[in-house]
Amino acid sequence: MKTCPNCGETVPLRAKQCPNCGQLLGGSSRQNRHWLRALTPTEIFLLVLGSLMLGVFLVAL
Ligand SMILES: [Zn+2]
Repeated sequence: MKTCPNCGETVPLRAKQCPNCGQLLGGSSRQNRHWLRALTPTEIFLLVLGSLMLGVFLVAL
């Protein structure tokens, strides 16, 4: 069980909405995925390229 951040009512863990006040209850795991989805393909490419360069740099040492 968890509590609604809006009214403090006890809500089942799987509930997506508070039955008392209708407050939408988002899981914290969703927010962790969201930042990855928000990345553009260019940003993902730069991230991969950056980690590759870092790997090559470490091997070269
Ligand atoms: Zn509520």
